[in-house]
Amino acid sequence: MNHTNLTLKSSIPSSQIHFIDLEAQQAKIRPQVDQAIKQVLDHGIYIMGPEVAEFEKNLGNFCGAKNNLSCSNGTDALALGLMAFGVQSGDAIFVPSFTFAATAEVVTWFGATPIFIDVLEETFNMDPDSLEKGIALAKKLSLNPKGIIPVDLFGLPADYDRIEALAKEHSLWILADAAQSFGATYKGRQVGTLGDIATTSFFPAKPLGCYGDGGAVFTNNDEYAAVMRSIRVHGQGSDKYDNVRIGMNGRLDTLQAAILLQKLAIFPQEIEARHKVAQRYHAGLKDVVKTPFIPEGLTSVWAQYTLQLPDHINRKELMAKLQEAKIPSVIYYVKPLHMQTAYKDYPCAEEQLPVAEKLADSVLSLPMHPYLEEKVQDYIIEVFHDLIIKA
Ligand SMILES: *Cc1c(COP(=O)(O)O)cnc(C)c1O
Repeated sequence: MNHTNLTLKSSIPSSQIHFIDLEAQQAKIRPQVDQAIKQVLDHGIYIMGPEVAEFEKNLGNFCGAKNNLSCSNGTDALALGLMAFGVQSGDAIFVPSFTFAATAEVVTWFGATPIFIDVLEETFNMDPDSLEKGIALAKKLSLNPKGIIPVDLFGLPADYDRIEALAKEHSLWILADAAQSFGATYKGRQVGTLGDIATTSFFPAKPLGCYGDGGAVFTNNDEYAAVMRSIRVHGQGSDKYDNVRIGMNGRLDTLQAAILLQKLAIFPQEIEARHKVAQRYHAGLKDVVKTPFIPEGLTSVWAQYTLQLPDHINRKELMAKLQEAKIPSVIYYVKPLHMQTAYKDYPCAEEQLPVAEKLADSVLSLPMHPYLEEKVQDYIIEVFHDLIIKA
């Protein structure tokens, strides 16, 4: 491929641009991380060491939830929530189709039925109108509508006002899948305090990530918290040798907690930097492509910066040309869950989920991280702009 049709002010960089730059972050905090790891190696309490409790305390200070429990990963966090709610066979749980597989996967672990809900084109998040249809369908299928798992996709909180109203009307709980949105806000409320239980993931590529697997559950409800605390350690009771319920091994490693303590310390600055990157993309690209929309009173933590391409753009070709210019781009998500092999036989709220299907064909995510330098971002904007205009 040649670039003779590109009229760039800047030249193509010699090395690949990072989609997410964990190296730059590590360079900034490496001495603190080394020290934190050394401390764990010195005290040797690898499971439930002091760093775990300290990290949980700091998580609470950050998000304001009453109970903050770290756990093994974002998928197990969802499972802990579902187990606290007592999900079982015959239950219908409402999940958006345009999300990562984990959201629906966990529902099936307990024999319950995920019902796929369409999303809104503006926000990529669960469509409350489609949710209403899903609730009606569950009843028609003689399932017991029990709960909603809204996902805060790409870092933007879902429409909790309307979802909470529907939950109340139909006596449903809300398990907020905030794997991508920890650090975002909804009308003055911090993610972690939305929903009856909220969950997040510390997978390395998430906005707050560790160096392995990790996750957390948040709740203001002490009973749910006590149950999840027990389930996280095999269902233990107050007597360690009498397990009072069936549980799992759902703990966060002390080493990961120690690393997360250092990352959480710089997280507020990183969120600010993410906002700046998003603003600059918006200013540079809004005239050629549909940039993300943030509803009044909400903030995103920009887990992804996801564009919607115009119909006439050939996405594959665009991605190849971006790659030629050393710019990585990724499709989140290529296939909505209701069209994937493992999930296609579960019910959908409507005959089709047209928005989820359309988005899967038109979205594209650009490099997004707190350490994206202005000159590199200007280059990305310039190349992208040029490719769209000339397509
Ligand atoms: C990443 C992610 C999860 C799962 O988190 P893991 O820590 O990888 O298990 C769940 N839901 C959503 C929306 C995610 O993006």
